[in-house]
Amino acid sequence: MAKLEIFQFPTRADNYGVLLHDPETGATAAIDAPEAGPIQAALAEKGWRLTDILVTHHHGDHTAGIGALKNKYGCTVYGPAREAGLIQGLDVEVKEGDTVSVGHADATVLDTAGHTRGHVSYYFPDEGVVFVGDTLFSVGCGKLLEGDAATMWRSLSKLAALPPETAVYCGHEYTGANCRFALTIEPENEALQARAAQVAENDAKGLPSLPTTIGLELATNPFLRASSPQIQARLGLEGQALEDVFGEVRRRKDRF
Ligand code: ZN
Ligand code: FE
Repeated sequence: MAKLEIFQFPTRADNYGVLLHDPETGATAAIDAPEAGPIQAALAEKGWRLTDILVTHHHGDHTAGIGALKNKYGCTVYGPAREAGLIQGLDVEVKEGDTVSVGHADATVLDTAGHTRGHVSYYFPDEGVVFVGDTLFSVGCGKLLEGDAATMWRSLSKLAALPPETAVYCGHEYTGANCRFALTIEPENEALQARAAQVAENDAKGLPSLPTTIGLELATNPFLRASSPQIQARLGLEGQALEDVFGEVRRRKDRF
């Protein structure tokens, strides 16, 4: 069974690049391609050769580096079938339930639409790790640019059902700002207070807040906590459908 090495590094203004490496086969995948230069630098630092790119969604801050990386490495590009026309250089279209392999490590493709129409996440069950792009952020979630609240709630619920110890890698470092908003929704949540304090400390030291875990997000992320009686009461939505409670949290964040 493969044990992937995972290397996360900051790129662009607030994106993360991630490389996955299977030491047995040498296979190396990038999660998204925000920008070619920093990915090449990361590959050089590790002494790895890029074989695959796993794209979560079509936005430029996740795909801009594909062309240059493909030219240089001849790597294979996987991405959501439903966004095939929007992702230049896509080789393999994937959808819910498909398997994508990085060397000996297998990922299951999860349809996590909502931020974009075809957004996918890559879950490696044997590695206990999921790459969620702009669907789930730590203490936040992606904007509903091409999907409605019900669609995004379904996607987030799929991620929330993964084992709590699952490590979660997200597309952006937004956690500090997300904590400030979350505290207006659920100020009494002690796990959230602790996370906010820890993230403020990390930010001051320039340290990443990611990866997070599903368990930590279930305890702190207001977008996963629509069933909380405190949150429902604060929003005046006691007993309402969870997707509607989620939708109201999302609307408030958009105005925050
Ligand atoms: Zn995006
Ligand atoms: Fe993004």
